[in-house]
Amino acid sequence: MIIVCSKHVKEGLEIIHLPHIHLISEEDKDFGSYRCHICSEKADYKLFNFFPQKKIPLETVI
Ligand SMILES: [Zn+2]
Repeated sequence: MIIVCSKHVKEGLEIIHLPHIHLISEEDKDFGSYRCHICSEKADYKLFNFFPQKKIPLETVI
């Protein structure tokens, strides 16, 4: 699973395959524990897939 803000959904979808998207609730956003993996802004979406993801360093993908 990766977590991104609304600006980086596309990049997030490109990083994982067979993506599923969950919107992060306002409550969870206010808690402040979700940060975009790409820019560290407050995240809006969780992106994840069914299968355990290979650990790929972000730098090699972007
Ligand atoms: Zn971002």
